[in-house]
Amino acid sequence: MKRQTPYRGYPNRTGHFGPYGGMFVPETLMTPLHHLAEEYDRVRRDPAFQKEFDYYLREYAGRPTPLYFAERLTRELGGAKIYLKREDLLHTGAHKINNALGQVLLARRMKKPRVIAETGAGQHGVATATVAAMFGLECVVYMGAVDAERQALNVYRMKLLGAEVRTVKSGQQTLKEAISEAMRDWVTNVRTTHYILGSALGSHPYPMMVRDFQSVLGKEARQQILKKEGRLPDLLTACVGGGSNAIGLFYPFVNDRSVRMVGVEAGGMNLKKGKHAARFAGGVLGVLQGTRTFVLQDQDGQIALTHSVSAGLDYAAVGPEHSWLRELGRAEYTSATDQEALNGFQTLSRIEGIIPALESSHAIAYTIAQAPKMKKSKIMIVNLSGRGDKDVVEASKHIKQLG
Ligand SMILES: *Cc1c(COP(=O)(O)O)cnc(C)c1O
Repeated sequence: MKRQTPYRGYPNRTGHFGPYGGMFVPETLMTPLHHLAEEYDRVRRDPAFQKEFDYYLREYAGRPTPLYFAERLTRELGGAKIYLKREDLLHTGAHKINNALGQVLLARRMKKPRVIAETGAGQHGVATATVAAMFGLECVVYMGAVDAERQALNVYRMKLLGAEVRTVKSGQQTLKEAISEAMRDWVTNVRTTHYILGSALGSHPYPMMVRDFQSVLGKEARQQILKKEGRLPDLLTACVGGGSNAIGLFYPFVNDRSVRMVGVEAGGMNLKKGKHAARFAGGVLGVLQGTRTFVLQDQDGQIALTHSVSAGLDYAAVGPEHSWLRELGRAEYTSATDQEALNGFQTLSRIEGIIPALESSHAIAYTIAQAPKMKKSKIMIVNLSGRGDKDVVEASKHIKQLG
């Protein structure tokens, strides 16, 4: 880090991480957001809430997840010792349930009988529908019509779980439009409704709240590695869509200066405009859906088209805290291409018997490139944010040689 002061106290009262973050929303959303920030401030300091959260994480979601020593992958790559944080083993198959549980408990505290969510690939929609079912809350999920068609299986899952899926037909009919529609619903129904946002994105207090709920995975990883190795790791890596699984891993290590942190964005087909979702490679400072951060857009502020083989990384903005950690020099960001991710997908499947989500495969791709350059005495932790069952059909279109 360039500055020698410890990293603490972010975001500030107005939701800023340095110049990033904030509350860039229409006037009508300011009151509900301030109210949410106050409520969250109460529960974060309430041991009874924490106890309840811990209970459901453990008994329902399946925490703690293992920190697994990937012995064969380590040997194959011939460098750093590789540990995988197994978020893929959680109920519903990814880290998203951590945040969905935290927020549904908050909704209950606020006595809101209805929750809404946006979803791109459907993973966050499924996590939200799941926790809503478990607590008997009404649930509406907004999804772009194009995404709903591509992810028909997740649409069916959400319906099976009792949620109503509303398809959005404006604009590109994908995640961005689904978020806008969810915000509109929230403004209209705020008295009865909590909006469960799915990543460390959007207006304050969401980036902070989602980070805190996801930090459970980093806290566990920190304790687990200290127990297994008697020391902190040298390197952490995670894929970065909105940035929630990455910040969940990084945050509990942020003041451990010896621990390097690397986020991996979607490099898509290449880093030409419209072919990727690497905000730090092609983005500029901008505002999108409530927050100021790095955004892929043109000179007129039109949001650029994005592409990634993994739907979960395919969004034009990155969580504001990542922009700040990068500016401070505390975290670094790189990207992996679709091809590299697909290679990671196959490699982990074959060598460890673990089929990773295509999102997580980006972190595996970075590991494959990085571990061999590190000494055998070094230790790295890779966040395996989710399992790849959902991606098998997509992968089969790209990986032909299996026949
Ligand atoms: C949604 C998703 C991501 C991307 O979201 P983040 O907020 O960046 O973590 C990554 N991995 C999996 C498995 C996902 O479902």
